[in-house]
Amino acid sequence: MLISLEGIDGCGKSTQARLLADHLRAQGRDVVLTREPGGSPGAEEIRRLLVEGAGERWSPETECLLFTAARRDHLERTIRPALKAGRVVVTDRFADSTRIYQGAARGDLRAMVDRLHDLMIGVEPDRTFVIDIEPRTGLARGTARGGSEDRFESLGLAFQERLALGFRALAAEYPGRVRLIDGSGDPDQVAHRIRAAL
Ligand code: C5P
Repeated sequence: MLISLEGIDGCGKSTQARLLADHLRAQGRDVVLTREPGGSPGAEEIRRLLVEGAGERWSPETECLLFTAARRDHLERTIRPALKAGRVVVTDRFADSTRIYQGAARGDLRAMVDRLHDLMIGVEPDRTFVIDIEPRTGLARGTARGGSEDRFESLGLAFQERLALGFRALAAEYPGRVRLIDGSGDPDQVAHRIRAAL
């Protein structure tokens, strides 16, 4: 089973991915906790190319190719072998992030994103939880963490608002797979909502 956690920056999905993996392990499941961009040695190298450095290093199209290349490596090296071995894979971001970040928020590239996905990835998670929070809250959490080397998080409130709208729309686009989870409250409350939905 492949489960993805999605949402805007600072929504808490990394914490929730960890809590969900802990919960499933406590139930006796063999769980692989992984993330994107990254999740395999090659994809982690591509992650560095994507998140380090200032400003608009890549065009939206090149960025999309790099995220897809990273995902392909993650799929080949980490996700497929784990699923084949009967393990549960919990991933912090997957293809929906590219649909929204590159496909909608950075430019109008959704058609290209979809074609690349069909050509190179072709896999959807069994379940996706979008952690829904107010963009202002997410930005405040990012600042509280002391910011980061991460150039994407400096794109500002308007960008996070475009992302939030995009992620909310995903739940309507993929009603069986994508669930919107209220991300307000403390991490345990959010974790409880995810477990109830699962
Ligand atoms: O989720 P995480 O913070 O690890 O993601 C790293 C950075 O890459 C984030 O700032 C996120 O906004 C950005 N990102 C992106 N497009 C994606 C996935 C992540 O711009 N498809």
